[in-house]
Amino acid sequence: MANHSCIPNATVQFAGRYAILRADAPLQSGQEIEISYTDVTYPLSKRRDALDWYYFDCQCPRCLQDLNVYQAAALEPSTTLKLNEFSVVPSLASKIRNHPATKVPDIIATAQDAAEKLVHLITPQEDGEPAVLRAELQQKYTQCRPLVAHELWAVPPLSHILMDVTRYYSSQHAWSFALVVACLEATASNPYQYVPPFETPRVRVLYMIAKLLSNTAAECGGCPPTNKLKSLDAALTKEITAALWEIDQIALCQMLLIMVIKAAPAGYEAHWPMTTMAKTMLDEISILPGRNDEQSIINEWANSPGSERSRAFFEYAVVQPMERLSAFGRDVLRKEFGY
Ligand SMILES: [Zn+2]
Repeated sequence: MANHSCIPNATVQFAGRYAILRADAPLQSGQEIEISYTDVTYPLSKRRDALDWYYFDCQCPRCLQDLNVYQAAALEPSTTLKLNEFSVVPSLASKIRNHPATKVPDIIATAQDAAEKLVHLITPQEDGEPAVLRAELQQKYTQCRPLVAHELWAVPPLSHILMDVTRYYSSQHAWSFALVVACLEATASNPYQYVPPFETPRVRVLYMIAKLLSNTAAECGGCPPTNKLKSLDAALTKEITAALWEIDQIALCQMLLIMVIKAAPAGYEAHWPMTTMAKTMLDEISILPGRNDEQSIINEWANSPGSERSRAFFEYAVVQPMERLSAFGRDVLRKEFGY
């Protein structure tokens, strides 16, 4: 058994009927293994409520100093931060170190204050009529204005709202809008909440982006759009479509799927549901004609991601397109949700 910390050094992942205890980074001999019994990204009051069930007050630095998500990420050991060199945010370590929410008193205060005041908005998205869901999201997003003003995408409930907006657009087959908001989540929210790149929420959003790319690529390839929303901003739709034409969506999709497969807990790959789903999608892509050159460079990257050529290709084919798409995610929120 492992004790609790809100800055844990290990995590439990589920693969089929197995629960796997996984270290976030190499542990020292004799070092205590700590996991979190609750969602570490919740504000202090909600973590305390959850830990009431275990009859103890957490005394970790995150609780004692009421640290926000960014401050807690900055306390992660450099070995954990370094794992992100091969993630969709390779420069995460320096981004965290220089993030205003770790340095600027006003922004630190906003993050704490908004997280506690808006804690009641952390609720699971219910199923319902699209118009009702849309109105609920609008209402929640409007209340998150102080967080949006400082781009504090990793602070809940804003981080949860990003996820719900992606789901909403996806349910309405507005694939490109869902895609760009998911990219914002994968680059500006998730990595700060969960620093180890193999954490399930981070891998799940990469898989979702790959699925969305299979739809946007099909539309670019001539499949008729199935979007059910008639009122999407036309100019923005056009801009996103133009950007998608310039991006090799198939290569991006393949590389994200390979990252999903590589993130599986060692020895339990066959039991991890995302491995099977990602492999099926990769097999379907591999039969597309005329992609031998791309396939060979992707294989080279998959086999030796640390080589200079592979790093340059990863930057070009994954990091830059994801950044470009996530900037559109910000535009979608501005145009569609008014801020
Ligand atoms: Zn704690």
